[in-house]
Amino acid sequence: MSKAQTSDRVSNFTESVIREMTRIAIQAGAVNLAQGYPDFAAPDVVKEAAVRAIRADANQYSITWGTLSLRTAIAESYRRRFNLNIDPQTDIAVCCGATECMLAALLATTNPGDEVILFEPFYENYRPDAWMCGAIPRLVPLRAPTISSDGTGSSRWHFDPDELAAAFGPKTRAIIITSPHNPTGHVFSREELETIAALCIKHDVLAITDEIYEHITYDEHAHVPMATLPGMAERTITISGLSKTFSITGWRLGYCFAPASIATAIRKVHDFMTVNAPTPLQEAGAVALTLGADYYSGLKAEYRRKRDILLAALRQKGFKPSVPEGAYYIMADYSELSAEDDTEFAMRMVREAGLASVPGSSFYWHKSLSRTMIRFCYCKKDETLHQAAHCLAGWDV
Ligand code: GLN
Repeated sequence: MSKAQTSDRVSNFTESVIREMTRIAIQAGAVNLAQGYPDFAAPDVVKEAAVRAIRADANQYSITWGTLSLRTAIAESYRRRFNLNIDPQTDIAVCCGATECMLAALLATTNPGDEVILFEPFYENYRPDAWMCGAIPRLVPLRAPTISSDGTGSSRWHFDPDELAAAFGPKTRAIIITSPHNPTGHVFSREELETIAALCIKHDVLAITDEIYEHITYDEHAHVPMATLPGMAERTITISGLSKTFSITGWRLGYCFAPASIATAIRKVHDFMTVNAPTPLQEAGAVALTLGADYYSGLKAEYRRKRDILLAALRQKGFKPSVPEGAYYIMADYSELSAEDDTEFAMRMVREAGLASVPGSSFYWHKSLSRTMIRFCYCKKDETLHQAAHCLAGWDV
C-alpha cells in the first residue's frame, strides 16, 4: 500500500460540524445561529487600540508566551476578581485562541494511552485534541434537565457523582471541565466543582478548565474558577480568552495559566506550534482588560435579553429549550415537532426555514443521547434573532 497517505491520527476526524454549518448557512443565504460568533460590532475602544498598535508598528513577533502588557493585564484581572495570585512572568501563556490553549495544554501534560475525562455533551474540538495526543477520552454524561409533571427530577443539566467517580482510575491524567458550558449553558456550581476537585485530589489528576464564557452568566449563577478551590491551584490549567468577552473571535486571543512548571511546558508547545498570537491585537487586548465593571454588567444584561428573545421564539414554535445559566447557546429538544434525527431535522430547517443550527449529535459520542436536540446560538444582533423567529414562525414543519 502507498505510504503517500494521511496518518492514522486523522482518520478518526470528521470535519467540524459547527464550522460546516456556517458554510452551509452562507451558501443557502440562511440566518446563521450555528457557529457561536457575534454579528455585531466589537467595542470601539478595543478596535481603536488595535489600530493604534498597528500604526505604532507593533507588527513583529512578540515574546512567544505573550506580551508583558497583556500578561500583566490578565494577572491583574484575576487578582481583582478572585484574589488569585498569578505571576505574569512565569504562569501565563497567551496562545492563538482558547482552542490552541486546549491542544497545547493536552500536548504538554498527557502521554499516549493516558485517559482524559470529558463530560458528554462536550465542545467538539476536545475529542480530536485528545486523539492528537494519543490520549483516550473517557466520557461521563451530563444529563439534560428531567423535570416531570409531579415536580421531581432536576431542572438543571447535572452529572451523577458516582458515575463521575467510576470514570477515575489509574490511567486518568486529566479532566476537562467547561464552565459556563458549551453547548448546554450549564454553569457548574461550587458544590459540583468541589465534587470534581475532591476526585482530582484523590486520584492526583489535573483539571483543565475551559472558562472562555466566564463573563457570560445569568441571574444567580456566578462563575467559580476551579483554580480558586482549596488544593486546586496547583493542579489546574485555567483556559480563557478575549474572543467571547469582547466580541473579537477572529482575533484569536486565548490564554491559560497554571503552576509555573506546567505553564513552561505549555509555552514550549505553543512556541513550536504558532510562535505567538498576533502582536498588535495583544496590545489591544491589554487595553480591553482595563474596561470597568459597567462593561461586564452590560455584557451580561445584553446576553440575558437576547437569550429570552430566542427562548420565546423557540417555545412559540413548539421546541422544548433548556434555559441557559451562562454562555450563549440553547440546546432545544424538537421531539414534539418531528421524528427525524437531529442532522436530518437541522438540514431541513436550513433548506425550508432558512435557519441554521448545529445538530446536537456533534457534541455527543453516544448519538442516541442527542437524537432530538439541536443547538442555537444567540450572540447575534436583535435584528438577526427576530429574523430567526420569523423564519421559525413561517416554517411548515
Ligand atoms: N465556540 C464556537 C461554537 O461553539 C465556535 C468556535 C470555533 O468555531 N472555533 O460555536
